[in-house]
Amino acid sequence: MDTDVLVCGGGVAGTMAAVAAARAGASVLLVERYGFLGGNATGGAVAQFNSWQTSAGRRVIAGLAAEVVQRLEAYGAARPHDVFVMSTGHRMDRVEYAPEVLKLVLDDLVTEAGVQPMLHTSVCGVDCEGGRVRAVRLLTKSGEIEVHPRVLIDTSGDIDVLHRAGAPFLPLEQGDDLQPATMMFRFGPIDFARFDALTPAELQALARAGYASGELARAALHASRNPFSSDGWFNISRLGIDATDASALSRAEIEGRRQAWQAAAYLQRAVPGCENGRLQAFATQVGVRETRRVEGEHILTAEELILPENFADGIACGAYPIDIHPVAGGELIYSSMGDDHAYQIPYRSLIPKGISNALVAGRGISATHAALAAIRVMTISMAVGQAAGTAAAMACQADGGAELDVRQVDPVALRASLVAQGALVGG
Ligand SMILES: Cc1cc2nc3c(=O)[nH]c(=O)nc-3n(C[C@H](O)[C@H](O)[C@H](O)COP(=O)(O)OP(=O)(O)OC[C@H]3O[C@@H](n4cnc5c(N)ncnc54)[C@H](O)[C@@H]3O)c2cc1C
Repeated sequence: MDTDVLVCGGGVAGTMAAVAAARAGASVLLVERYGFLGGNATGGAVAQFNSWQTSAGRRVIAGLAAEVVQRLEAYGAARPHDVFVMSTGHRMDRVEYAPEVLKLVLDDLVTEAGVQPMLHTSVCGVDCEGGRVRAVRLLTKSGEIEVHPRVLIDTSGDIDVLHRAGAPFLPLEQGDDLQPATMMFRFGPIDFARFDALTPAELQALARAGYASGELARAALHASRNPFSSDGWFNISRLGIDATDASALSRAEIEGRRQAWQAAAYLQRAVPGCENGRLQAFATQVGVRETRRVEGEHILTAEELILPENFADGIACGAYPIDIHPVAGGELIYSSMGDDHAYQIPYRSLIPKGISNALVAGRGISATHAALAAIRVMTISMAVGQAAGTAAAMACQADGGAELDVRQVDPVALRASLVAQGALVGG
């Protein structure tokens, strides 16, 4: 098969990339190993989009991400945007949503944009010659097919395709660990009048007591309320693994369910409002925060986020703090940004070194471990995905045949196109 743009990985970053590229006129094939789109946002049941604004309330995310929320609202499946205090005591803004309905919203978006979805399909091989991705082999239910893309966008989270293509990746620094994975679980019914009446200090004390007794794997009682029900999705388990290691990932699924079951028993026993609840569902898979980060034309650092550095090729903004979940110990390493602090992500962080016709979006872009701890959230992943899709379509339009190079996309024109689409790019 030939296609202008091949997007591998249908998480929120990949779906936004595919939709943006198709809306800009490119032919787009979107490959996803599961039977639905969304990645961590649906299969991982993360259930809340965080950080739409600075602490002072200045909006930093719009564009396709905002359209996703409008469409969820139209289905009655998003709760109003609000600011809340987490059980760890940190202040945050969010939109809670129903993960099952997000699957429908993403279906609608790709169908309307004319993206060709390839579900139940995994990447099984890549041919890369002279720094160009020539072919990507896919294992589908009908057998193997070979796709020849003009531009590849790797949004597989683990950046599996570029890994197979031999692209360079960034190592962890001395003393850093990959952020742990988490098995989300749905618990209910919850008497939210009583649960929400708990003060942040009371919630924090309950979380710490659960961790001290060994019933909770981390000192947190994070819950996102599922809009249709009196259930919440809980983010409590903690699994220190490298999720690109097949054996470790398999063990983590089993251990994640064990931790979730034990945490549900603690909720029922100790947390006001949860006495009548039961564990209702596990996420389809453990949610994975971090695996491979590609080495790109620019490596985004925490220092640049904190400054913040002004990038001439800034293609998305963010305000989420540096939020590191350590593998050991129950607490977070959390560095809040200033009151009206926002930062930018440069286009060059989406371009893998040494490959001319590929881009990356989502949690695998070129950033240090600490910078990724901020920019990994779904709002920013969607904004970066939109930028990658737009850039890929622009590269195809400007294509000089075999010379196509995503580096030739004019950042000024890319930024202007994103702004015209309603996205916020800063600067
Ligand atoms: C437990 C947890 C809690 C979080 N909490 C929040 C939160 O509260 N708010 C927030 O905004 N963000 C949160 N995040 C972060 C956020 O969910 C992720 O960083 C974000 O969803 C990443 O999106 P992505 O599209 O880059 O990757 P993923 O969601 O990982 O998507 C990758 C997609 O590629 C597919 N794929 C992978 N490999 C292949 C392959 N070889 N072939 C075909 N398909 C493949 C996967 O099935 C998946 O659909 C959390 C993350 C986790 C894990």
